[in-house]
Amino acid sequence: MLTKAKEILKSIFGYDSFRDQQEKIIENILAKKDTIVLMPTGGGKSVCFQIPALILENLTIVISPLISLMKDQVDALKSNGVAAAFYNSSMSEIEKKVIQEKAEKNELKLLYLSPETLLQLSNSWFYSLKISLVAIDEAHCVSMWGHDFRPEYTQIKILRNQLIDIPFVALTATADRITRKDIATHLGLVDPITFLSSFNRPNLELNVKGNIPKQKKIDQILDFIESRSNQSGIIYCLSRKETEEWSQILKNNKINAHHYHAGLTSEERDKIQTDFINDDIGIICATIAFGMGIDKSNVRWVIHNNLPKNIEGYYQEIGRAGRDSLKSDTLLYYNYRDVKLLADFARESEHSQVLLEKLNRMLEYAEATTCRRKILLAYFSEELHENCGHCDVCKNPPQTIDGTILAQKALSAIARTNESIGNNTLIEILRGAKTADMYSKKYNELKTFGIGADLSVNEWLFFITQFKNIGLMEVAYDDSMHFKITPFGKKVLFNQLKISIANYKPKEKINNKKVKQPKFVESLSENELLFDRLKLLRRKIAVEENVPAYIVFSDATLQEMANEKPLTNNDFLAIQGVGMQKLNSYGEEFITLIKQFIANSTPKKTTYDETLELIQQGLSIDEIALIRKLSSTTIFSHIAKLYADGYPIKVQHYFDDEQVEKIKKVLPNFESTLQLKPIYEALNEEIEYGIIRLILTFLEKNHVNNQLS
Ligand code: ADP
Ligand code: ZN
Repeated sequence: MLTKAKEILKSIFGYDSFRDQQEKIIENILAKKDTIVLMPTGGGKSVCFQIPALILENLTIVISPLISLMKDQVDALKSNGVAAAFYNSSMSEIEKKVIQEKAEKNELKLLYLSPETLLQLSNSWFYSLKISLVAIDEAHCVSMWGHDFRPEYTQIKILRNQLIDIPFVALTATADRITRKDIATHLGLVDPITFLSSFNRPNLELNVKGNIPKQKKIDQILDFIESRSNQSGIIYCLSRKETEEWSQILKNNKINAHHYHAGLTSEERDKIQTDFINDDIGIICATIAFGMGIDKSNVRWVIHNNLPKNIEGYYQEIGRAGRDSLKSDTLLYYNYRDVKLLADFARESEHSQVLLEKLNRMLEYAEATTCRRKILLAYFSEELHENCGHCDVCKNPPQTIDGTILAQKALSAIARTNESIGNNTLIEILRGAKTADMYSKKYNELKTFGIGADLSVNEWLFFITQFKNIGLMEVAYDDSMHFKITPFGKKVLFNQLKISIANYKPKEKINNKKVKQPKFVESLSENELLFDRLKLLRRKIAVEENVPAYIVFSDATLQEMANEKPLTNNDFLAIQGVGMQKLNSYGEEFITLIKQFIANSTPKKTTYDETLELIQQGLSIDEIALIRKLSSTTIFSHIAKLYADGYPIKVQHYFDDEQVEKIKKVLPNFESTLQLKPIYEALNEEIEYGIIRLILTFLEKNHVNNQLS
């Protein structure tokens, strides 16, 4: 069976080897056991149920919460030649009937349904289908404590009880302890085996900036974006108004951005989402309503304009960057005004205590003095022993001390009270506080009572936060926020491990020194140029086939093509992400492009030659500007020079007679055409600089105005 799985991995999905746990998960499902898969976004959950679906005889049902998500997955499967379909409320009765018949005739391998549809279909044709496997995507939606609770998910249990002999697999990218527990119980899984992958996303750079004044923040973000031209990114905001403000700021700076929030119509939202996925919109300024349905592999950065409500949400949001495993940046801004606002919201909720505690953990992350990746992984109960080296704390570390003894004092107080205390009581015990509470609960008789009286409350607060952050103990949301010692904490308590922590320093104003991002000055390498050409071809195909670009090929696949430059079908098939279907559909076009690229690339080209070559290939100014990462004005100036130098370029393509006439009319007012600004202004800023330059060159060259220099 597993040889078969491997064969399918290559022939259908185009990959040589399984990642991490994929193989074991598939084996478990094929052995008909219930399975829980906890894997971070981009980890490769889909093939875990898609490959069994292709091996098993009958139909696999996939339950997925969002229509857009279903459509993307089905499109991706179809592009790999797999018989898959979805069935949901967005379809007409006729469309539904077609899918129903296909399912009944066993012509489908995978059928995607929303949980609502599943409920509606109870006692219908659905139950006569021959089903081999049920996969539940985004399974954390069943947990009430989580951030994405969907009541319909709790009804899936009914299905589990009806389809007795069939394995169920639940998958999610959220993995805190409570969610895990809830998935197993609320979905009614039978003795499930849980596969927990590392949640580490080493390709995400983590950065946090606190209390930066607004204008400074705007400048920083503009710099950040300008040094990453043509990259896709998301700015998350707290309110609808803020999303609109940010997209306006970006647009004013000629950046291709759009806002997105739940106040837009669903058509508007669909369009924005599709345009983003297809790279027609570069940047989305969104509330957290945006993202769950986004399966886009080449999001290069995520900025949070405000502190998120909790770490689960934050990790999922930054996780939308870099799904293709290429390096991606994340940047979190926070200020106390937002924290207060969020806390006010939280207080109004039914679960206010949990929400406030989660918010508090988020703030502790933002203010952390230890490696941020360690904190995130500890939150998901994972130990990371080395500092990551790719977060702002690692890059600018605080002074550290050996924290083992301090930690042992705190942990032993927690242990001696049977893990039944929270922050305040812990500090009171450590400091030997003479309060009624201490005496009535007999804490004053504990061995640890007063063992940390030499430190102030603030010092203990500072250290305990670090202990939580590095994962020595967890806060039990489902048990009055009491501390529970983790396996890692036990190792420290019993002297098997030493820890180092940041030394206490009284809170000072947060440093808002501006860190200047390096600007892109160097020209693009060969491979980068080819990568951009491949992206354009991918785009063309995506538009023709009306699918998102990444469904044709992911960025990671194109990057490998640009590096390897495959020239034969065999070499092309060796690229990760190319299966048989894709070789047949696209191989020829991509190989031809690569051949052309190699033939045309000569080592020492001037910047003008490069532009010329692209013009000769029939690309528009905007496309050339995009590829060369230059402004269109610069490209126009190249064209003007090339034209003046006598290259046969049809410059008239770039302007019309009316523009020429307008310029001719104002020209006599100027002694020189060296300065464009006065001319630009005299034309009411209606004709862009590049075109003015080009028309002037055209006029000069054709001696229409040879009295001007
Ligand atoms: P998830 O659902 O966990 O967020 P996906 O299933 O969408 O992740 O997979 C993320 C990316 O990784 C996809 O582009 C997928 O094709 C790719 N991928 C999955 N498995 C492998 C593998 N074994 N080798 C290489 N790439 C893989
Ligand atoms: Zn780090």
